[in-house]
Parts: sequence; C-alpha cells; structure tokens
Amino acid sequence: MAHAATEAIVHRLLERGYNVAPAAAARIAGADDPERILEAVLASVSEDVLCITPGHVEAAIDNPLVSGGDDTNYAPRRARSDRPVDPIGIVGDVTGQSTCTGEYGDFVALFRDRYDQLAGLLRGRITHRNARSLADARGGSEVGMIGMVADVRSTRNGHWLVELEDPTGAFPALLMSDRDIAADAQGLLYDEVIGVSGRLSDDAGIIFVEDLYLPDVPRTFEPNTADRHVQAALISDVHVGSKEFLAEAWDDFSAWLHSPEAEPVEYLVIAGDMVEGVGVYPGQEHDLAIEDVYAQYRRFAELLKQVPGDLEIVMIPGNHDAVRLAEPQPAFTDEIADILAVHDAHITANPSTVSLEGVNILVYHGASLDEVIASVPDEDVAYANPDRAMAELLRKRHVAPQYGGRIRIAPEERDYLVIEDVPDVFHTGHVHTIGVGTYHGVRLINSGCWQAQTDFQRRNNLDPDPGFAPIIDLDTLDVKLRKFV
Ligand code: FE
Ligand code: ZN
Repeated sequence: MAHAATEAIVHRLLERGYNVAPAAAARIAGADDPERILEAVLASVSEDVLCITPGHVEAAIDNPLVSGGDDTNYAPRRARSDRPVDPIGIVGDVTGQSTCTGEYGDFVALFRDRYDQLAGLLRGRITHRNARSLADARGGSEVGMIGMVADVRSTRNGHWLVELEDPTGAFPALLMSDRDIAADAQGLLYDEVIGVSGRLSDDAGIIFVEDLYLPDVPRTFEPNTADRHVQAALISDVHVGSKEFLAEAWDDFSAWLHSPEAEPVEYLVIAGDMVEGVGVYPGQEHDLAIEDVYAQYRRFAELLKQVPGDLEIVMIPGNHDAVRLAEPQPAFTDEIADILAVHDAHITANPSTVSLEGVNILVYHGASLDEVIASVPDEDVAYANPDRAMAELLRKRHVAPQYGGRIRIAPEERDYLVIEDVPDVFHTGHVHTIGVGTYHGVRLINSGCWQAQTDFQRRNNLDPDPGFAPIIDLDTLDVKLRKFV
C-alpha cells in the first residue's frame, strides 16, 4: 500500500487536531473511498479522543453515515454532568482504546504530577491532612485538606458539594454560599487543585469549609523588568488564509515597525493562530481565501518578511494551527518551521515561557479562556475583559485546569500546563478581544487579532478587536495599544 497515501492521512488528521495510530492511517488510506472514511471517522469520534485507532476506523467503515458534532471556537463548554472522566488517576475515554498515546497510566502520572506541583504551592498555607487520615479524624475537629476538584455540584440549598481527591483517596467538603468563599466556590473548575480548612461534621463524614485557598500568585510578587529601554510587540491570531484577514492592517503594522517611533521594539511575540487553518470547524472551507494550509503558512511567511529583519520573533501554535490540538501543543513541525524560517524565529510550544531581557513572559494561546469565561459567574469575566479570565488562570496556577471539556489535554508525564513559576507578563490570545490588566503585579495582555468579525462571530454576538498591537515596555511593563485599522 502506498506509504505516501498513509502519510497524507496522518497529516490530514493532524491538521484536524488528532494523532493517529499508524495502522489506523494505513487502514483509511487503503479503504475503497479514503475521503469518505476519513470524514466518517472525524464525524464519529468524540471530542476527547486524542488518537485515532484502528477501532475508530472500523467503526466508521461499518457506519459511514454518522453525522458530525459542532466544533467551533466559541461554543459553550459541555454541562458538567457530561464529563466523561474523573481526576487523579482517572480516565474514562482514553482507557484501552489508544495505541499511540494516552495510556491510562500516563494520565495517572499527569494528574499526580499536577497534584504534586500545585499542592506544593498550598502546603505552607494550610494545616492539612490527607483523605485517608481524615476518614479516621474525630468529628467536630478543625481540619484542612489539599485536593483536586473531582466533582462539584450545587445542593438544593444553594451550597456547593465538592469532592476533593488526593493520592490517598477522596473526601467531601461543603462550601456554603453565605460565606466570603462563595464567589470562588462558584468559579471552581474540575481538576483544579485547592485547599480548604474548616470543621468536620459530628459524624466526621464531611468538611464544612470556612476558608478556601487557591494556589494563586503571592500578593508580594514583584515582577522583573529590563534594565534598559526596550519594547516588545505582543500579538496573536493573525489568521492568514481567512477571507477576513486584514492584510492592510498588517501592512500598516509592519510599516510602523520600520518607523523611528518603533525603534525600541526589538521583539515580536505571536501567541498562536498564525493561519486560519483548514477543517477547524464545519463549513470553514467557505470562509477561506487560501484553501491549502501550507499555502497559508507560505503567505504568512511572506508577511513576516515585511517586518524588520533584526526583530527577534517568538511563535507558539494555537488551535487553528497545523499541530496537535491537545495541550501542551508541540512547536511547529519541521515542515512548517522551514516555511516560517524567514527570520530565524524562535518556534516553541504552547504554552511556553520566554525570557526577554530578564522579563519572563508566559505565552499561551488561550483556548481555556472560553471555559473560564463560561464558568466564572462574575459578569466582568467576559469576552470584553479577557484579562479578567487570565487572572483566574493565574489564581488557579494552571493554564487549562479542566480536563474533558473543550480542551484536549495530552497525557504527558509532567503537567506542563501548571504555572509553576509566576511570570512577569502573561500573554494570551484566542478570544480575539483586547485585554490589558495587572494581577498581583503580573502584567496581563490578551492581544486581539488581525481578522475582521467572521459570520460565526456575528451570529454569536462576539465583537473582536482587530488590528491592534499591544506594545510593552520591558523596562516598566507599561503597555500601549497601537491601532492599525
Ligand atoms: Fe484565533
Ligand atoms: Zn484560537
């Protein structure tokens, strides 16, 4: 069977965000009608699947008419009750079906590492015991626990019942809505790690929580700054290849970068979605000005050639880019990196921390912001204020806490999505709106986009901020918004 055909299938699936077992790709390539089978596989696998297996392909061949789900950028997250998995240790969907990634044990390691890292941030702040020893504690005593949120549901009285899990077991905690902790309780996401303290019930079966602790950024945090006057342009979501890509705005931006005013700008950071991609959502082909993803990257490379040659460029992928969708997303493959090689750009993973002149910038595309905006009840945590959602991620010290919702997470041995070190600057994109703020000394910047409002955004009342380039002074962390439309 033609190896090239199998390779092509691997690529096609990768572009759509799936890894694929070699045998599964070969099976599709060897089918009577590979196109139809490929579409049937994509339509039938659930969103949580990380890797297409031969089993998925056989199922699609048996039933090629299954219709697709709606996979769009801004769709609300699934209801919590739909969630297929259970944290620490835990994995429903991937178990037993994956042959190339996502072994059960890998997820155990991932969640264990997440717990260890985040519990480490909480340990000094709470007197705590593990779940097993709580089971033997005396009723009515003061206790504390650090656990991963395994389940959270509201009670009939409007309180929240949270199941906390640590490596020794699980223990329930009741968070009362008439306390200061109510706002945080309401914004809890599955799989984030929190600490609680309070009193055990008389029968020692549940903790009545008095204080809730998030890993958070210390209030005393003081960001590093550069020791000379130097600036960075922080942008994202260029979406080259979309009919709505704003070429003129980009031209103006690159012309400005050559102007005397932009002389201090020595860095350009691009936080994902270089191109519009292909197959990102159903019907996307109608919105494309350039239909081939490699042609999109070639066009993007042309645009990069316009910016000053001595600019240091850092790029991470986003959910529209042609890399694995599961986070952490690896850097662009050599094939795409070669296309983008025009400026010797630093091509790295999503997320990455880059240090510019001693200022540590956490660059994350921002796919989880949709979830945070949907689940945090505070009205200010909205698409109009993405910096407020970014602050929530900092408080949780994790860029994508919730497994099994909108975000695919890859079972790495280490949880690279934990915000282990507090960054000086946190830079995201994805929601296409501008947000600039500060949280406990950390500068927050969501960088807008270079794509005019799409039909999808219009239908969903999403109002993007295209054509802005936030420029940060690395010596003061002041941010100026430059507008190019
Ligand atoms: Fe985008
Ligand atoms: Zn995006």
